[in-house]
Amino acid sequence: MNQPVRRSILHVDMDAFYAAVEQRDDPALRGQPLAVGGTGTRGVVAAASYEARRFGVRSAMPLREALRRCPQLLRVKPRMEVYRRESGRIFEIFQRYTPQVEGLSLDEAFLDVTASLSIFGSAHAVAVSIKRQIHDELGLTASVGIAPNKLVAKIASDLDKPDGLVEVTAESLHSVLDPLPVRVLPGLGPRTLPGLARLGVRTLGELRTMPATRLRAALGRDTEHMQRRAAGQDDRPVTPERAEKSISAEETFDIDLVAPADLQRALSQLSERTAARLRAKGLLAGTVTVKIREHDFTTVTRQQGLAEQTCQTRTIMDTARRLLVTWHKTRPGARVRLLGVGVSALSHSRQPGLFDVPGDSQGERLDAAADRIRARFGSTALSRARSLR
Ligand SMILES: [Mg+2]
Repeated sequence: MNQPVRRSILHVDMDAFYAAVEQRDDPALRGQPLAVGGTGTRGVVAAASYEARRFGVRSAMPLREALRRCPQLLRVKPRMEVYRRESGRIFEIFQRYTPQVEGLSLDEAFLDVTASLSIFGSAHAVAVSIKRQIHDELGLTASVGIAPNKLVAKIASDLDKPDGLVEVTAESLHSVLDPLPVRVLPGLGPRTLPGLARLGVRTLGELRTMPATRLRAALGRDTEHMQRRAAGQDDRPVTPERAEKSISAEETFDIDLVAPADLQRALSQLSERTAARLRAKGLLAGTVTVKIREHDFTTVTRQQGLAEQTCQTRTIMDTARRLLVTWHKTRPGARVRLLGVGVSALSHSRQPGLFDVPGDSQGERLDAAADRIRARFGSTALSRARSLR
C-alpha cells in the first residue's frame, strides 16, 4: 500500500482583526483598551484589542460587563465595509501560495500548501512570507499554525498569539498537544467537560491515554473519535470555496486621473493583478470587463468576450486597453476616480498554472515567472514596462 501523502496545512488567523484595523487607521486608539461594538452601553463587544483583553474584556461580552471590567475602555462602531475590503486583500495574499484556501471567516483560513512546497521550500517559509506580506502590505499581524492537518493547525495558531508562528510536525504532535487543556479541542464543551473533569481528565495527554472503557462514562459513543482527536489525528481535506463567478481588481485614486497615459498605466497594473489571481486559482476567463467611475461617481462598465478563454496577462491587458480607449473617445478629458478590471465566464484551466510546469509559449513563461516573483516579494515587486512610471 502507498504511504499517504504527508500534508502541510496552515491555519492563518488575524490578531484581534477588527480592533487591529481600527488601531491601524486611528493612531489615537493605539496602545489603548478598545472594543469594537456599539458605542452606547448596550450591545456586545464584537472584538477587543489585546490591551482590553488584559482587563478580561472578550468578544461576545455585553458592553455593560466590559465597561465594568475596564471603565476606561474606548469604543468604536464596527466598519464592516472596511473589514471586508481588508479581508479581500488578506485572501489575495493567500492565493499567491496556493489555490487550496478554505475561509472560515473574514480573518481566518486553512491553506493546504503541500503542492506548493516545491516552489516555496517549506511550510515554515510560506508562513513567514505570508506573515511578512500581511504586515508590510496591510500593517496588520497574523498568527499561523502549521501542522499535518486542520485540527492541529488551528490549535497551533492559537498557542503563541499575537504575531505567533507555531509548527507542529508528525513527530512533535504528542509533545505539543499532551500538556494542553482538553477545552482546546473543538467538540468538547459544556456538555462533556464536566464529565471529563469528574474522571480527572484535564489534558489532551490524559484524554489520549486513558482506557476507552473508563472514558465512555463521559464521552459515550464519541469516545474513540475524541481520543483520535486528542492524539492530533484528522484527515479532513481543505475545501476551497465554491467556484467563483468573477475575479476583479479595482483601485480608487487619491487624485483623479485625466491623462490617457496615466489611465493606461493604472489599467495595466489592474490587469496584471486580475490575471495573476486568475492563474493562482487555476482558472481561465472568457470575458473581460473594465469599470470606470468618474469624479462625480458616474460609473460605467464595458465588456468584451474573448475568442478563446485565457489566463494570460497579455490578452487580458490588451482587451482591457481597447475597452478603455473606446470609452475614452466618448469622454475625452474625463476625470477618473476609480478603475477596475474584471474577468468572468470562468472555467477550470487545463493550461499550466502557478503550481504546474509552465508551458512553452513566451507569454506563459513570462506569466509563470512573474507569478513566482510576486508570490515571493509581494504584488508590487514587479510590473511590466507598460505599468511603470
Ligand atoms: Mg482572528
